[in-house]
Amino acid sequence: MARRTARRRPAPSTAATPAAPPGAEAPCPCGLPAAYGDCCRPFHSGEAAAPTAERLMRSRYSAFAVGDAGHLLRTWAPATRPATLELDPAMRWTGLEITGTTDGTLFHSTGTVTFTARYTHHGQPGALSEHSRFEKADGRWVYLDGTFPDEASAG
Ligand SMILES: [Zn+2]
Repeated sequence: MARRTARRRPAPSTAATPAAPPGAEAPCPCGLPAAYGDCCRPFHSGEAAAPTAERLMRSRYSAFAVGDAGHLLRTWAPATRPATLELDPAMRWTGLEITGTTDGTLFHSTGTVTFTARYTHHGQPGALSEHSRFEKADGRWVYLDGTFPDEASAG
């Protein structure tokens, strides 16, 4: 057996630093025509709870964009929440498009959001499409799980 250097699992690169959170006046990453400070930041800080499943989904996308793993874990249903979440610093989220919603309003206890999130990873553009399920727990929307239409059709 050749004593060559073992191929290590890719470690988080120290060269890529997470994107700095936008200022309060900056456009919100979630794509709504609002400043971050008036849009998703109150959800990230815990000052406010997202009123609808769609707003929660947008705030979770924004959390990926600004590197707020804490918000992602806090808004994940306990049944499906991972113990820890490490965000890839080489990932740059570049846009969110909501393509469909069902229920998920103030008057519902469940809802779904279908979306496409665009990103670049090490400079390579890509897109993730997901059909996410949300539920209300203790009066707050949480993310339950998602299916990926692209992968399903690929068999
Ligand atoms: Zn927002």
